[in-house]
Amino acid sequence: MVQEMPDYDVIVLGAGVAGIYQIKRLTDLGIDAIVLEADEDLGGTWYRNRYPGARFDSESYTYGYSFSQEVLDEWHWKERFSPQPENLRYLNFVADKFDLRRHMRFNARVTAMSWEEETRHWRLNLENGDTYTARFVITGIGVLSVPTMPHIEGMDDFEGDSFHTYWWPKEEVPLAGRRVGVIGTGATGIQVIAEIADKVADLTVFQRRPNWSTPLNNSPISEQEMAEIRARYDEIFDNCSKSPGGFEHIPDRRGFWNVPREERLALWDRLYETPGFALLASNFTEIFMDQEANKEISDYVANRIRQRVNDPDTAEKLIPKDHGFGMQRLPLETRYFEAYNRDNVHLVDITETPIERITAKGIQTAQAHYDLDLIVYATGFNAVTGAFDRLDIRGMGGQSLADKWRDGPQTYMGILTHGFPNLLMVAGPQSVSGSTNYPRAIEGGVNWVTELVSHAMEKGLTRIETQAQAEEAWREEVIRAHERLLLRRSRGWFTGYNSNVSGHEFGKVRYQAYFGTGPKYMSMLKEAAERGYDQLELA
Ligand code: NAP
Repeated sequence: MVQEMPDYDVIVLGAGVAGIYQIKRLTDLGIDAIVLEADEDLGGTWYRNRYPGARFDSESYTYGYSFSQEVLDEWHWKERFSPQPENLRYLNFVADKFDLRRHMRFNARVTAMSWEEETRHWRLNLENGDTYTARFVITGIGVLSVPTMPHIEGMDDFEGDSFHTYWWPKEEVPLAGRRVGVIGTGATGIQVIAEIADKVADLTVFQRRPNWSTPLNNSPISEQEMAEIRARYDEIFDNCSKSPGGFEHIPDRRGFWNVPREERLALWDRLYETPGFALLASNFTEIFMDQEANKEISDYVANRIRQRVNDPDTAEKLIPKDHGFGMQRLPLETRYFEAYNRDNVHLVDITETPIERITAKGIQTAQAHYDLDLIVYATGFNAVTGAFDRLDIRGMGGQSLADKWRDGPQTYMGILTHGFPNLLMVAGPQSVSGSTNYPRAIEGGVNWVTELVSHAMEKGLTRIETQAQAEEAWREEVIRAHERLLLRRSRGWFTGYNSNVSGHEFGKVRYQAYFGTGPKYMSMLKEAAERGYDQLELA
């Protein structure tokens, strides 16, 4: 090996929730590390998604970091489900508190990175022409950070404002008096639509497939409640670490068919009024595996929609018919269904009357032309692997990671991938990050990766690679956990579906997320470390 020192021991990619904690851990250990962030400031998801209505759907105090007592003592969450501006303030508060910005380089978009076996370095090329080398690269580049636009004729002809929700401008976007069209009814579309319905002159929603959605049940957090939350933080994080989804909500283990139907309905009535993912995560686990149980809960939620939407035809259009409740990532809403009771809100089912083209003045469907001043694309993301694909990552022998993952990611526990030594992924593909309360999985992932890197550095080891068979075994575990669930047949980003990205069409499951539950995943990580990383080759 050529003894050439890299510029840094570690380069962290991304200054979002993962990157902020990752750089804190590394620099606390005295490891020479920096963060490269493509955007002009920190915050990741919460820097970018500025659209009206963007907020947590995890309880704020379960989303925040758990690692610092000072942060827990000092930060006051104002709402149970905190909005984007507050979330961005929080991340800045944490970064400033620990003086982490000095380790961050902004406007530093990595376009390519390649492994150099000779020197055991990664070489990173930036858009601005800079080059860095590092012994290890740790990615915190997000699960939903590559927005995707539809391919509709005439999109460039539109003379009004138009953008993807991810690119909602920093400057105030005028809404009053404007005619707005929204394409997409996922978690993002549902938040935007509900938020702007009473602020715009006219709102037309172009819906391809409806989503199930249940009430967020948000509320302010008073000083006194915050004091109670603070006193309970240990218990809160302990609860999260034991629950499958990383929340305080825990499944009802009584057994769906052991509980009389009236009792099930009474439980659902209560959960429907409970904040957050209660109806999903405190329900019977059979709803995710047993078609009959799933049909019953789906019928229940469908009736709730019928009760809330005045026009029966509109209500039917808002009820998913192609998938059951909980089979795609559940959006949570605040008066979303009531928005359709307003005279200025119109639902266009584009499976009945497809969009033919975007014109200079609006949207032309097979039936009518809709005059618009603003078109909002809430059309989703090239989820989980998209952020890796666009980096042009080259491993051993110049192999491209995008090629290796063409039919879906292959990883060891979502953290390493064979042929790409010293590349460590926090919240990576096939981890639990996408399928559970994101920051809970991030903290676990950061801690594991940090221990691994410091173990290697203490021992003078300069190369970490996972074995091919360990990766194969993990893929089998990912598939096993996935195939148990009814969602295996669904068409959401959980299964790798995105109609706008070639290779992500419906029908080809990419096995991008691990559905084996947070506690199981974390205990497997712990055991792997205790076994001395026996699935890894350290040299
Ligand atoms: P999404 O769930 O993928 O939804 C995209 C929507 O756009 C779908 O309704 C889709 O319809 C529609 N669409 C896509 N391409 C289209 C086309 N060519 N023509 C017409 N319609 C098209 O994306 P998202 O709503 O941005 O949500 C993604 C994820 O982000 C969520 O699942 C969640 O994990 C996360 N998120 C979290 C929060 C939060 O924590 N508070 C908020 C928002 C989002 P089809 O279904 O027919 O493809």
